[in-house]
Amino acid sequence: MTQIEKVLIANRGEIAVRAVRTANSLGIKTVVVYSRDDQDSLHVRLADNAVYLGSGSVLETYLNTGKLMEACEQTGADSFYPGYGFLSENPDFARLVTKEGYNFIGPSADVIELMGNKVSSRKEAKKAGIPIVPGSEGAIDDVSKAIDICERIGYPVIVKAAFGGGGMGMVIVNSKDDLEQAVHSAQEQAKAAFGRSEVFVEKYLINPKHIEIQFFGDKQGNVVHLGERECSIQRRHQKLLEEAPSPVVSPVRRAYLGNLVADFAKGAGYVNAGTAEFLFKDGQFYFNEVNARIQVEMGVTEFVTGYDLVVEQFKVASGEPLSFNQKQVDIRGHSIEIRITAEDPLHDFRPSPGQVTSLIMPGGTGLRLDTHLYQGYTVPSRYDSMVGKLIAWDLTRSLCRHRLLTALDEFKISGFPTNMRFHRFLLEDDSFVSGTYHTGTIEERGLLEKVKDEFYAQAVALLAYSQQSSQSTLPKPPSDNWKVQGRRESTGWSV
Ligand code: ADP
Repeated sequence: MTQIEKVLIANRGEIAVRAVRTANSLGIKTVVVYSRDDQDSLHVRLADNAVYLGSGSVLETYLNTGKLMEACEQTGADSFYPGYGFLSENPDFARLVTKEGYNFIGPSADVIELMGNKVSSRKEAKKAGIPIVPGSEGAIDDVSKAIDICERIGYPVIVKAAFGGGGMGMVIVNSKDDLEQAVHSAQEQAKAAFGRSEVFVEKYLINPKHIEIQFFGDKQGNVVHLGERECSIQRRHQKLLEEAPSPVVSPVRRAYLGNLVADFAKGAGYVNAGTAEFLFKDGQFYFNEVNARIQVEMGVTEFVTGYDLVVEQFKVASGEPLSFNQKQVDIRGHSIEIRITAEDPLHDFRPSPGQVTSLIMPGGTGLRLDTHLYQGYTVPSRYDSMVGKLIAWDLTRSLCRHRLLTALDEFKISGFPTNMRFHRFLLEDDSFVSGTYHTGTIEERGLLEKVKDEFYAQAVALLAYSQQSSQSTLPKPPSDNWKVQGRRESTGWSV
C-alpha cells in the first residue's frame, strides 16, 4: 500500500479544480502547477501549493516533464495526477514518474503504450473476441497493400493516425484514386501533431453512433465496467454532449458489451480508469479505441452509478481495492452533460476567449456545474475553449432533458460568446428527443446554422429598434428573456 499524502496535479482548467476538490475531500495535500496565462486560475487559488511553470508554450510548461519532476521534488509531492489531455496518455512520462519513485495515478506505462497505439489496441481487441471496424491489420507501409484492403472492405474508408487524438489526423477517402494522397496527407498531419507518422485504414461508417464503456481496474486484479455513455453529438469528430445510459442500449446488451470489455481490460492487466470506445451501426458494435485515462464525460457515469471516479482513481493508485464490485454497479436514472465552450456562433464557432464580466450559475437538485470560471476571470486564448461542463440527472431521460433546459435558461455568462444557445437547439431537436441522433446529426439538422440565423434575426430586430426608437416610442426590443413558443428563452451568449 502506497498511501498518497501529497499529489501534484499536472493539469489546468476544470479537471485541475475537480482533482483538487477530490484530493481535499480525501485529506490529501495538493500541489498544482500553472503557466503565466493561468496565474489567476481557480485551481491555483484552491490548492495548498502552486508552482509556477513560466510564461512559455504548452511544451515549455504543462508538457515540460523536467519542470514537473522538479516541482514534485521541491514540494515533497509523492504522486502525479494527470487528468485528461496533456501528459495523461504519455507512456514515457508514466515510466519516468514511476522510475523516480513517484506514484502515477493511472494505468501502467506498458498498458498506456499498448492502448495509446490504435493499431496495437485494435489487434488486442480482436484477439479478445471484440468486433473491430474492418480494416488494415497494422500500420500502412505500402500503399498498394492498402489499395487491396480498401477494395476488399469497400469505400468510403478512413485513414487514421495510430497515435491520433482529439479528432485530428483522420482523412476520409471515397475512391481508390484519392487513397495514396490521403495516406501521405494523414502521415504528414500525424507527424506534425503527434510526432509519429504511422497511419492505418478502416471502413468509414456513415453516420454511426459513438457509444463507449467505462471500466475500472484495481491492483488486486478486479476489473469492473460501469455501463456505457453515448457521445454521438460531435463537431469535427469532437464530442459536445454526452449521456448515460445510451437511449439505444438495452440492459442485456450493456451487460454483454461491458463484460467483454472488462475481460479485455483484465487480460491486459489494466489498472485505474479507462474507456473502450465503439462505433454502433445497424445494430452492430465495432471497437474503435481505448482511452487509457479519465475522460471529460465521466460526470454522467458518476451521476447514474453514484460512484466518484476520481476518488476511485486515488484509492486504486494507493493500492486499495475498488469500492464496488460488478454486482453493486446499478445504473439509476439518466444523466446528460453538455460541454460549454467560449466559442462564437457568428464566426463558425471559433474560440472567443475573454473576461467574465458577470456570471449567474445554475443550481438545484440533480445538477452539477464543473467549471473553473468565476466573475472577473479572463479565459486565456492559449488553451482549449471548454469553460465548463453542465451535467443534469433525473429519474428519466425526459425529466433529465428538461432539467438541463431549465439550467440553461438560468445560466448567464457575460463577457464573451458561448455555445449555450446551440445546446438549447440541440436538446429541443427531434433527433435528440427521440434518441435517434448520430455522429452526423449536427450537420444533417443544420443546427449550427439555426443558431447563427437566430442571432442575425435578433441583431436585425435590435438595429431596427435602435433606428426607430430615436424617432418614436416603440415596444421593448427582444432581450435575454423574451418569449418564444411560450417558453422562457435565453440568448445563450452575451457579448
Ligand atoms: P480521436 O482519438 O482523435 O478522438 P477516434 O478514433 O476516437 O479519434 O474517432 C473520433 C470520432 O471520429 C468518432 O467518434 C467518430 O465520430 C469518427 N470516426 C472515427 N472512426 C470512424 C469510422 N471508421 N467511421 C466513421 N466515423 C469514424
